[in-house]
Amino acid sequence: MNSDPYAPLAARLQQIRAQLPPGTALLAVSKGHDAGLIRQAVALGQRSFGESRLQEAQAKQALLADLEPLDWHFIGRLQANKVRPVLRSFGTVHAIDSLALAQRVARIAAEENRAPQLFFQVKFLPDAGKGGFSPEELQQLWTQLRDLAPARPVGLMTITPLGLSPQQSRAVFESCRALADACGLPGCSMGMSGDWQQAVAAGSTWVRIGSGLFGSRVPSNDLHQGRPLAE
Ligand SMILES: *Cc1c(COP(=O)(O)O)cnc(C)c1O
Repeated sequence: MNSDPYAPLAARLQQIRAQLPPGTALLAVSKGHDAGLIRQAVALGQRSFGESRLQEAQAKQALLADLEPLDWHFIGRLQANKVRPVLRSFGTVHAIDSLALAQRVARIAAEENRAPQLFFQVKFLPDAGKGGFSPEELQQLWTQLRDLAPARPVGLMTITPLGLSPQQSRAVFESCRALADACGLPGCSMGMSGDWQQAVAAGSTWVRIGSGLFGSRVPSNDLHQGRPLAE
């Protein structure tokens, strides 16, 4: 029999890729999935992976060390005491949510001789327990946030609150795109399994897709930014 063990993942990847315009990249969110599944995705041409827990990611990175270097993105809330190891293991950080954290990242990046790409998380609607700058705060702090060398601010990141309609999500994503444009930032990390099509329509440059690509996650106590796992 011609049974292809990668078929479901291959089909999902192909389906998503077919809907992404040239300026939008897929971040495969592999948290809650094992290194074997990441390896399958790599075999299918995926290079960029998102993780939100440092130790879980480090364990998988060690298991995948035989591969060509992958493009690892840290998408979880970054604790101050994890900045150094996160910069050693990830080239991009998606959830910079305060000036103090941004400046700490810049200082440690210099010490570690790294030039991480940074996204500033912005919260456009009230969302209890979720981190992020308000749009006004981001604009007020912008002269300081733009200047974080050797770290490289590349964009804004947002997460929509649960329960929005597609139209409401689209409006949030359009606000994010407009604010990034106003700051001269090319990147917008926006769109997850439930709303990535709206994010693409609004000009996302990175959609972060987990369950819609890999299926349900292994249950964990990952209450990322106060948000229970969607499944
Ligand atoms: C878990 C996570 C995702 C992926 O969520 P899915 O709904 O499984 O696609 C995207 N972004 C962030 C910040 C996450 O924590």
